[in-house]
Amino acid sequence: MNVKTTLILALSAATMAGAASAQGWPAEWTKPAAPYRIVGNVWFVGTEGIASYLISGSQGHIVIDGGMPEGAPLVEANIRKLGFKVEDVKILLNTHAHIDHAGGLAQLKADTKARLYAAKGDEEGLEKGVHVGDSDYGGAAFPPVKVDRTVKDLQTVKLGEIAITAHITPGHTRGCTTWTLPVVERDRPLNVTFYCSTSVAGNVLFGNRAYPQILADYQASFAKLRAIPTDVFLPNHPEFADLAGKRQRQTRGEPTPFVDPAEMGRFIDASQAAFDREVAKQETRR
Ligand SMILES: [Zn+2]
Repeated sequence: MNVKTTLILALSAATMAGAASAQGWPAEWTKPAAPYRIVGNVWFVGTEGIASYLISGSQGHIVIDGGMPEGAPLVEANIRKLGFKVEDVKILLNTHAHIDHAGGLAQLKADTKARLYAAKGDEEGLEKGVHVGDSDYGGAAFPPVKVDRTVKDLQTVKLGEIAITAHITPGHTRGCTTWTLPVVERDRPLNVTFYCSTSVAGNVLFGNRAYPQILADYQASFAKLRAIPTDVFLPNHPEFADLAGKRQRQTRGEPTPFVDPAEMGRFIDASQAAFDREVAKQETRR
């Protein structure tokens, strides 16, 4: 699947064609997927259609994103399958407060007793379990989860030898957070970026009463994301980076299929072009 197709899918997941669950969400979002190591201490522990990542450490682990509410048990099973203990997860992070990435956090938090760190802008969404802001789909409710600590832009969260940095990249949600992590793979230092989202996905861009600065936020976030040096691009929907294809190449013996320093730039180009088209569309409707 190419980037353009996947971006279109992400724009309106609820109305996308293809197999869907009873609630209207894509069936692959809650379909089990086998876990595996990506690079360094970064592991895929998500489902077929939604990424969750585990960063392992000697003082405990960090998990980024909980997936769908029904996805949390699958994420926990994947953590165990890799030989890690769910109780050793000490910190939970989130890319953004939407059902497909935050829906499973409440259960993960209850089962791990980990602390949840999130951007101030997404605190309300996470704690109410809603999308904050005007949208054409009215938001999609998910189990609310308490935020233990808010993080600021460029703040580094540390756990043992793990140091992961928050880049607040709002627009898709008010607290959309992209996380960056330095790792070492085969003696080679690499920058890993866990990309939040820059799709419009039903957001009202003009006259958004609950989020008036949304348009300017998106534009600033595109510029900010372009400046983040990235060797390994890890989005929260696996197909955006063809993780399944790269995993196949890895199992065939390719040493570093996940490393592509130009990939995030290409993704941002496609995402920004889709954004500009959506701005033009919404502008004519005003
Ligand atoms: Zn989203």
